Amino acid sequence: MKIFAIGRNYAEHIQELNNERPDEPVVFTKPDTAVLRNNAPFYLPGFSKDIHHEVELVLRVCKEGKNIEEKFAHKYFDAIGLGIDFTARDLQQKAKEKGLPWDIAKGFNGSAPLSDKFIPVSEFKNLKDINFSLQIDGELKQKGNTSLMLFSFDYIIAYLSKFFTLRTGDLIFTGTPKGVSAVKVGNVLSGYIENEKLLEFEVK
Ligand code: MG
Repeated sequence: MKIFAIGRNYAEHIQELNNERPDEPVVFTKPDTAVLRNNAPFYLPGFSKDIHHEVELVLRVCKEGKNIEEKFAHKYFDAIGLGIDFTARDLQQKAKEKGLPWDIAKGFNGSAPLSDKFIPVSEFKNLKDINFSLQIDGELKQKGNTSLMLFSFDYIIAYLSKFFTLRTGDLIFTGTPKGVSAVKVGNVLSGYIENEKLLEFEVK
């Protein structure tokens, strides 16, 4: 199983990190050892002092394919879940300044908490109008709507499949809206798609 993630897919999040707006999706991957399920606690690692939450919609790939045309891309994912793309912002910043890859800042153990439930695509009225959000200790921190994505689900699938064969079970994090910030020990993170709570876990 491969885990892809798209960076810089929401304009206001690009602004908050002073990044450039990309003309193609910014792609990175996480290893399968990054996944946390069953609302397992996230243990703050000792190597970073600035672990940021990034709540994201996650596509589940349901069919093998490569060089997929955008008009057929909708056939290649069947469900949408919620994930957190935890990011060691200090390590990422250091790597970015040197023009080096930031894998360790994104792919460390536990950096991809995932909802157990994935909602079938057929249950959404409009994939271009999905609300999702993150609360910390009951306070709203991030909220996004898929209408604000720079690159649509279909575009992302088509783009990724030019370089990587997509396989059933692969997951795609589709980018975070603005509002990222550092998490602390004791925080409880709750993630929602529309009004349904799909994730709830503690930072330890
Ligand atoms: Mg992200």
